[in-house]
Amino acid sequence: MRRSQFFIKTLTEAPHDETSTNAKLLVRGGFVDKLSAGVYTLLPLGLRVFNKIENIIREEMVAASGIELFMPSLHPKENWQKTGRWKTWDDLYKLKEGGKDLALGPTHEEIIVPLVKKFVNSYRDLPVALFQFQNKFRKEMRAKSGLLRGREFVMKDLYSFHADEKDLDQYYEKLKKTYTGLFGRLGLGGKTYLTFASGGSFSKYSHEFQTLTKAGEDIIYICDKCKIAFNKEIIRDIRNKCAECGNKKLREEKAVEVGNIFKLKDKYSKPFDLSFIGKDGKEKIALMCCFGIGLQRVLGTIVETHYDERGIIWPESVTPFQVILIGIPDKKGKKLQQVCEKIYEQLIKKNIEVLYDDRDASAGEKFADADLIGVPVRIVVSGKTLAKNSVELKNRHKKTTRLVKIDQLVSLFK
Ligand code: ATP
Ligand code: MG
Repeated sequence: MRRSQFFIKTLTEAPHDETSTNAKLLVRGGFVDKLSAGVYTLLPLGLRVFNKIENIIREEMVAASGIELFMPSLHPKENWQKTGRWKTWDDLYKLKEGGKDLALGPTHEEIIVPLVKKFVNSYRDLPVALFQFQNKFRKEMRAKSGLLRGREFVMKDLYSFHADEKDLDQYYEKLKKTYTGLFGRLGLGGKTYLTFASGGSFSKYSHEFQTLTKAGEDIIYICDKCKIAFNKEIIRDIRNKCAECGNKKLREEKAVEVGNIFKLKDKYSKPFDLSFIGKDGKEKIALMCCFGIGLQRVLGTIVETHYDERGIIWPESVTPFQVILIGIPDKKGKKLQQVCEKIYEQLIKKNIEVLYDDRDASAGEKFADADLIGVPVRIVVSGKTLAKNSVELKNRHKKTTRLVKIDQLVSLFK
């Protein structure tokens, strides 16, 4: 991609109305644009990162036998009355259309359960796991954390349906592992803890995936022996002892919930009478789990955990471009430009995602821009490097800079 033909505008100053680091850096880097509190446009650059996050999650859900679908955002009131949540869900956006009430979906149990009911008749139709990437709408009162807490955001929500508790438990354990691997792939491994959280009335605990960051709104207590954590919300004496191994030295940290997995059992299948004929010929209620991940929240969390004083440094798995190519204009003008063009063409041919800063701008401007955009690998071509038939190759993760011969450069990229 040529910088001159793309749609990027970086800002030298952080916008005044943003307090969170993630929003400041994402707005400055030209990744997102704020429409109103908790409502952001994903600009082309941000969408590239977002799509990578989405694809990693999709691959992992499919590997865990999830089947993708796409449900609507406009929900009839009746569905929400069935579960009682028309009244109890405080954050629900409600609309009126003629004489009818509608909700903008904050989650999709009320839609998927009656849908699955149309497909499931016998135990042979189970288990089934369905997922989507879909906008959720929530009246978040404290939308101050930038991308971490939106009023409109995309969630990956997977719902699984089971014939019995044993099957439900097995799938739940499987997805626990899937989530651990998934957050690792997103660059959040090592900082993300499986965290025991309150389970509501249906199971003792639910599990959250909490990533350590000062920007987080949650307090968790980490057991370094078990490498798990406990959310402050669950038990008052948690501060004293790990519920798994009894370890008395728990570490208090701030964290953000990037994902949540829940055994819903018959909480939603019962009100909709999602039943099936069991092996024994008897009618039974199907059991459910749900597995959520907020994508903008993941995006914001990656930023909160991957930046330095200059800007974002994207993990390789989600970087908007694999490499940024910068030519520093000098006396060698034409020759330098030819070298840049050639490198650009070769990288493109090799299917390397490259952002080529082909603008007629100063070195300082281009470097500051590259820092804000945060592509971790940078190729710099200047009069100095050309004198050695080389380019400068910089890696912001490894904090290394080295000269590489021009004819050897492209073979370094996979
Ligand atoms: P929180 O306690 O932070 O409000 P929640 O318990 O309401 O989260 P769920 O309803 O379980 O969250 O949603 C599943 C996932 O969706 C969460 O783990 C989180 O990653 C994401 N999520 C929830 N609310 C938001 C939001 N307002 N903006 C962005 N992502 C969100
Ligand atoms: Mg919430």
